[in-house]
Amino acid sequence: MIKAITGTKDILPNEIPKWKFLEKIVEQVFQSFNYKEIRTPIFEETILFARGIGEETDIVSKEMYTFIDRSQTSLTLKPEMTASVVRSFIEHSLASKQSLLKLYYISPMFRQERPQAGRLRQFHQFGAEAIGSTSTLLDVEMIQMSYHILRNLGLKDLTVKINSLGTPKAREEYKKQLKKYLEDKKGRLSEESRKRIDKNILRIFDSKIESDQIVMNNAPLLIDFIDEESKQDFEAVKEILNQIRIPFEVDPKLVRGLDYYTKTTFEIISGKVGAQSALCGGGRYDLLVEHLEGKPTPGVGFAAGIERILLACENENSFKLPEEKIDLYIVKIENNISAEAAGLTSKVFDIATTLRRKNLSVEFDYLNRSVKSQMREANKLNAKFVLIVGGEEYKSGYYNLKNMKTGEQQLIPFDKLDSILIQNSKVKGQK
Ligand code: AMP
Repeated sequence: MIKAITGTKDILPNEIPKWKFLEKIVEQVFQSFNYKEIRTPIFEETILFARGIGEETDIVSKEMYTFIDRSQTSLTLKPEMTASVVRSFIEHSLASKQSLLKLYYISPMFRQERPQAGRLRQFHQFGAEAIGSTSTLLDVEMIQMSYHILRNLGLKDLTVKINSLGTPKAREEYKKQLKKYLEDKKGRLSEESRKRIDKNILRIFDSKIESDQIVMNNAPLLIDFIDEESKQDFEAVKEILNQIRIPFEVDPKLVRGLDYYTKTTFEIISGKVGAQSALCGGGRYDLLVEHLEGKPTPGVGFAAGIERILLACENENSFKLPEEKIDLYIVKIENNISAEAAGLTSKVFDIATTLRRKNLSVEFDYLNRSVKSQMREANKLNAKFVLIVGGEEYKSGYYNLKNMKTGEQQLIPFDKLDSILIQNSKVKGQK
């Protein structure tokens, strides 16, 4: 049997309603902050991510789906969206049309990580990017939008963590100090962390291994090394968060994976999803546009993982969806192969066509089932009404219409069917 690739997942029809519910909330919140949707290709030239995310990051050095196509170009399935959005921003000179761009996306992403609960190889993110301003209001806006979305999904067990990474210059100085601190403690670090000393020293803070954590507990902190402007901005972010009453914690060890982050970074953590607890993360990237050969332009953004958020929703039992219903199920009384039955079938099809044109959801039987099993199917589909076509009433110009909620039945003349059903349906009739 051919199966889906490890770390990928089918989203089956019974799961779709919760995805749609989440997507609707995401779109509402982004619209309320005036963000416009952007869609970019699934794959890009590998160099975009290598440069935009940083060669030494875990994503680029270990996790990308990279392949050579038939014209010998190295391509990569997108592992995150910021680099693609910035590429598009530069390529289409979007800054010339508008000085501040507020963009959002919902898209699959691809990373070859070790699959586990809340960690997949094809997963989905929604997120936003605001390109063109250094205003700390936009840093806060990212936290605010993600927090609104998570709260609107009913999630309660949330912790907002923030930190400031300062400028790369301040970070370089700090990295030297950190290296000095680790010099005589190498022996107590795990092999993985030892490798990171030269390659991506900040990520040692992310290690889940206890011995690494003990060493890192007394390490010097980046926040004590950052420049004055970054410090002021960080104070401003905290003040605005207090003003809008979003609870947060300062986490000086929150380093995040991308090289081109500057100043504010944040993550929102769920207490209900186990080890992979970050639901979303983001931050400022004032040097990225320039780094990808655009005119120097500041930016800030965030990304959130949909599968992980839905897992948190399930574990918190945070929302309940209304049962799916259809407006009408049409039951046909004759199911033999007589001319009369063929006439009924064509009538059923006509009725369904007319009502579907008016946007009612209508279903009927395609499998020549008995009346009893057609009724069973109507129940399974939560039909609001069942229309019975055939029998004595039909011969005298009437249908039998049953209201499935009240059990009430009425005979209705052929020409009144549309108006009665449309009146009873919440869906507006539309030609
Ligand atoms: P990142 O782009 O690494 O900052 O990730 C942002 C968010 O995307 C995380 O907080 C997760 O919710 C989600 N995410 C990242 N990697 C994965 C993955 N492999 N599987 C599922 N969700 C992920």
